[in-house]
Amino acid sequence: MKNIIFIAVTLLCIVSVTITAILIRYIAQSEPTRIIPFTVLIVVGISITALFAANIIVKKIVEPINKIDLENPENCDIYEELSPLLKRISEQNLIVARQMEKIKKRKTQFEIIGENMQEGLLILDKDDRILYYNKSATRILDEKNDNLLKKNIFVLCRNEYFRRGIKQAKESDEQIIYSFEINNKTIEMIARSVATSKGRIGTTVLIMDVSEKTNREKLRREFSANVSHELKTPLSVISGYAEIISNGLAKKEDISDFGTKIYSEAQYLLELINDIIELSNLDESRGFTFEKVNIYEFAKGVISRIEEKANEKNINIKLSGSDIIISAIPRLLDEIFSNLLENAIKYNKENGSVSINIEEKENFVILSVEDTGIGIPKSKQSRVFERFFRVDTSRTGRQGTGLGLSIVKHAVQIHKGKVSVSSVENSWTKFVVELPLELKGETKITA
Ligand code: ATP
Ligand code: MG
Repeated sequence: MKNIIFIAVTLLCIVSVTITAILIRYIAQSEPTRIIPFTVLIVVGISITALFAANIIVKKIVEPINKIDLENPENCDIYEELSPLLKRISEQNLIVARQMEKIKKRKTQFEIIGENMQEGLLILDKDDRILYYNKSATRILDEKNDNLLKKNIFVLCRNEYFRRGIKQAKESDEQIIYSFEINNKTIEMIARSVATSKGRIGTTVLIMDVSEKTNREKLRREFSANVSHELKTPLSVISGYAEIISNGLAKKEDISDFGTKIYSEAQYLLELINDIIELSNLDESRGFTFEKVNIYEFAKGVISRIEEKANEKNINIKLSGSDIIISAIPRLLDEIFSNLLENAIKYNKENGSVSINIEEKENFVILSVEDTGIGIPKSKQSRVFERFFRVDTSRTGRQGTGLGLSIVKHAVQIHKGKVSVSSVENSWTKFVVELPLELKGETKITA
């Protein structure tokens, strides 16, 4: 390239100098007075020609440069002089491509983590506009709009405490934690301001649905209060009678009666403590192993153990169905059967009956326990699985701790099954338990 420009400029100079010299010589000989205007004319003419030539040469030089493919500069070998520049562009392209690749990889990793988080994650800019949000955030806040980017965060949630949390996070370096209720959910938020050396650039907000945890805590508190209350009554009775006897205030003929009362209250306390221990084991899901069990044979075993109680009230127990093998925890299966059967006897009438049926239906075993007893009023049926709930102690007296059916419910849930009740007051009650033949996956328990 350098050579071509050099030759072209040299040729142009030679031609112009030659022409100028010839013309000046000719004019100097023929018309010496007009030599100055002629010289000016020649200079102007040469300047215009040079300008024109320069234009053409620049165009010719620049045209291929403009056509360089900057993505692949190594393929454009136009001028030798441009080779180092093109080589550097090519190297820069490689560095940029590598950095882009890294950024893309990090973005994908971030998105995968964000989308698989159970917690909702929100990243806001300094003016509270949403830069990033994951699926859990919209799920937890029940938001249907799926295009929230660049929108103000308060479009997503207008709750007073949520606003307060974000405002406080913006004003401090601490992480701000708030709990609030939205749509019957308890939500916990952790907001923190993000800052660089140049100042605050935004806020990150983590939100969690803690309804289940809160409910569990509430149930636990209620349970503890109930346990204290349940323990107090029999202990007061025991202590009262024991005091009368120890003070010598009891008549001789009453002592045996008092002893029986102390014994029965102590028995009740033992029963209560055993049930509480069982429930706490179920809560912790401790030490359970699934085994293959023939549920029909299993039921026969429980019946023969409890039959004596049925005989006391002349209650007839019928078992129907066939051998079905299921994967179950024998100790919990025993709790299910014995609690249902004991209730069917306890809340039955004299000369009544109890029918137990075991059958298989679409990968489930359906076992039902039906009695001809006092029944449960419709309004109370949904509450019988609650801890310490007893339908009507004024009618039946205190017959149990009120924990049996909650143990049944827990045991069924650990087996990933279902339990339901139907009843007609003063006529019959039927409990139906559905258990999967094979247990797959994780078990979720609600108290
Ligand atoms: P526990 O079983 O712990 O000794 P409980 O029998 O009182 O005590 P649950 O088995 O949980 O407790 O039953 C709760 C309540 O439901 C009972 O108190 C009773 O009022 C009612 N109930 C349960 N089963 C029957 C039934 N088959 N017929 C009528 N009422 C029933
Ligand atoms: Mg019971």
